[in-house]
Formats: sequence, C-alpha cells, structure tokens
Amino acid sequence: MTLDFSLSDDQQAIRDTARDFIAREVMPLENDVLAREHRGEKGLPAEDLRALQSKAQEFGFWGIGTPEAFGGAALPAVTQSLLWTEVGRTFVPFVFGGEADNILFRATAAQQEEFLKPTLAGDRVSCFAITEPNAGSDATAIRMRAKQDGDHWVLDGEKTFITKGVEADFSIVIAVTDAEKGHRGGFTAFLVDRSMGWESSPIHTMGPSTPASMSFDGVRVPHANVLGEVGEGFKLAMEWIGRGRYVIPSRAIGAAERLLTMAIEYAGQRETFGVPIGEHQMIQTMLADCELDLEAIRWPVLVAAWSIDQGLDARHASSLAKLGGATAAGRIVDRVMQIHGGMGYTKEMPIERWYREARLWRIFEGTDEIQRRTIAKGLLSGRRRVGGHLA
Ligand SMILES: Cc1cc2nc3c(=O)[nH]c(=O)nc-3n(C[C@H](O)[C@H](O)[C@H](O)COP(=O)(O)OP(=O)(O)OC[C@H]3O[C@@H](n4cnc5c(N)ncnc54)[C@H](O)[C@@H]3O)c2cc1C
Repeated sequence: MTLDFSLSDDQQAIRDTARDFIAREVMPLENDVLAREHRGEKGLPAEDLRALQSKAQEFGFWGIGTPEAFGGAALPAVTQSLLWTEVGRTFVPFVFGGEADNILFRATAAQQEEFLKPTLAGDRVSCFAITEPNAGSDATAIRMRAKQDGDHWVLDGEKTFITKGVEADFSIVIAVTDAEKGHRGGFTAFLVDRSMGWESSPIHTMGPSTPASMSFDGVRVPHANVLGEVGEGFKLAMEWIGRGRYVIPSRAIGAAERLLTMAIEYAGQRETFGVPIGEHQMIQTMLADCELDLEAIRWPVLVAAWSIDQGLDARHASSLAKLGGATAAGRIVDRVMQIHGGMGYTKEMPIERWYREARLWRIFEGTDEIQRRTIAKGLLSGRRRVGGHLA
C-alpha cells in the first residue's frame, strides 16, 4: 500500500465547486434560518430547500450517492464524505437533491414507482423508523408486531424519535414478523404510506430537529409493500444506520472547520488587557486543541469512507469515525464558544445553535457508548487487529 494523503484532481474539483456553491448560495441564508428558528419555525421551508437543490443540480450535485441507473452520480464514499464536509460548513439544513434512503434502492419495480422515484424527485418525503419507546440502543428489543392476514400485514405498536416523521408521506418501518426468531430472521421492513393510517406527533428537542412519535393501530399493509425479503429487516436496518456513521462525522468536520476559523478571526480582533486575546496562551491552547481534535478526526472519517469504497467491513472504522467526529465536534464548539466569551452564548451568533445541534450527534444513529461497544467488541473478538489497516 502506498501512503498518499492528497486528493485527486477530480476530488479537488468537485470539492471546490461544492465549497463555492455553499458559500455563494447557502451561507447567505444563515441569518434568515436563525431568525425563523428563533420564531419557532422551520429553518429552511421545503420550497426554499427545493429551489436550492435545483440550483445545486445545475452544478452537477444531484443524487451524489444514487446509482447511475436512477440518474444519480454514484460518487465513491470518500468523495461523498468530502461533499458532506462542505455542506457541514453551514448550519443551514441543506441536503443535495436526488437522494433516498440507501435501502430504498432494494425496492421492487412497483415499489420504485410508488416510493423510490418520487422520493428522488423530491415529490415524496420518507422517514425510517426502528426506535421504539422501549428499544433504542438495543434495536433487537423492538416490539412492534406485524401479523399476516391474507395478503396483508397488520402493524400495531409505537415508534419514537423518528426524523422527518412529522412531514413524511411514507415510512420504512421495521417490525417483528416472527417473535421467536427475533432480529435473526424475525424482523421485516415495510413501506407504509401515511394514508394507510399511522399517526405522528412532534417531539420538541433542544436542537433544530423535531422528530416524531408514530403510532400504528391495526395499520394494514399489503404484502407487496415488504421491502427486501420477509425476515431481512434487521439486516436492512443496520445497513441504513451504517451510512450515517460516516456522513454525520463528515458534516461535523465541516462545522468544526468553520467554527475554528471563526475563533481564529475573533482571537485576532477582540482585545483584552491591551492585546488581542489570541496573544494569551490560554486562548492559544484552546485553538491548538481545536486543531488537534479536527485533524485527529479527519483521517478516521476518510478511512471509514475509504473502507466502504474498498468493499471492506467498515463497521469498526465507521464507529471510530462517528464516535470521534461527534465527540470532537462537541469539544470544539465548546471551546469556540469560550473564546467568544459572552457573545458566543448569545443568539446573535450561530455558535449556541451549533452547540445544541452538535450535542445530538453523540446520541442518534448509535450513541457514543454504542460506538465504544462496537469498537471494543471488534478488538476483543480479534475481528479488528490493533494497528488497523497497517497491521
Ligand atoms: C433528534 C433525534 C432523531 C432521531 N432520529 C431517528 C430516526 O430517524 N429513526 C430512528 O429509528 N431513530 C431515531 N432516533 C433514535 C436514536 O437513534 C436513539 O435515541 C438512540 O439510538 C438511543 O436510544 P435511546 O434514546 O432509547 O437510549 P437508550 O438506548 O435507552 O440509552 C440510554 C443510555 O444508555 C446508554 N447505553 C445503552 N446501552 C448501553 C450499553 N450496552 N453499554 C453502555 N451504555 C449503554 C446509551 O448510550 C445512553 O447513554 C433519533 C433520536 C433523536 C434524539
């Protein structure tokens, strides 16, 4: 293996185009987003998001992870990671268009027409529901039952904390079809349209995210809406969650870069005791520690994405990336707030917003503790050798 930490010309060009797009089209919306959120509204209305996505499409950013068969760019995970880092530089809740939940590409031809293609086109909104009031970290403990009744399945139970559950037109729901088999062949994924009768209500959080609790009371779902195979639900769920484990920290790197840049600028301008605060060694320590955290996580995140591109088992690398990215971002935003003093704590600056948002990264799509559990289990079982790819 040769070691080469440089980006290819293609990667650089794509990254620079994205950086330019985010700076010119998305960052100018930041004050509006803050103002709307402070009024308790959605930061980026759906029609504004779609307009931005259309503009991004003109620059070639559409379906960055979507297979070419569906008109997407099918970019390698490393390139996608670089793009998510660019998106992460702004707190505007922007995502590229032409994307769908990774497991939705398993849809049958009929399901593609009803669910996948309208989602890629931005005409329908999906959500993914596995978490339940009594089953979060331990997803094997879900209880939502799906009982077969002729050519239908009847779903009963509750889901909670479901991102986009308030606005979704349909949900990918993981339910128990065979309690004896449990997660080893007894869970199944269903495509459940809202018109089939599930109800949702918002859960207000400390951050910009408003997930939903969802209730299913005898919701009848045609057998034709099984996603993948009956019994394959847990495997699909882990596949869905796996993607977030490099996307979330990729975004976190972008946020951390922006925050550190803000702190450096402020340290050069703000004066106390007759000198810029950047001349005080305690401020310098915080800046240096931010830079260390940032660079220490950049490479594990890229290694996780690279492992996916290489077709390697990326679970260990992805857990390192998610744990490292989420925790580093938390430390960085905290120091950057400290460097800004009282101003950092106000709603006039976006730091407190990032502070609230970054706290979530340590909780959803696998908490810090669950990532540590995966990492330790990999080491203890010998599946992962100390020294990683170089061992
Ligand atoms: C804003 C938001 C959006 C979300 N979006 C979605 C979504 O779209 N779809 C979805 O299905 N879910 C979603 N979730 C759910 C999220 O994935 C869970 O909240 C998360 O997995 C933790 O589960 P829990 O909240 O039940 O905590 P619990 O599992 O009850 O954990 C409580 C505490 O115990 C710790 N813990 C648990 N087990 C262990 C262990 N073995 N060793 C050490 N410590 C342990 C945890 O780390 C945590 O600190 C979302 C959550 C939030 C807050």
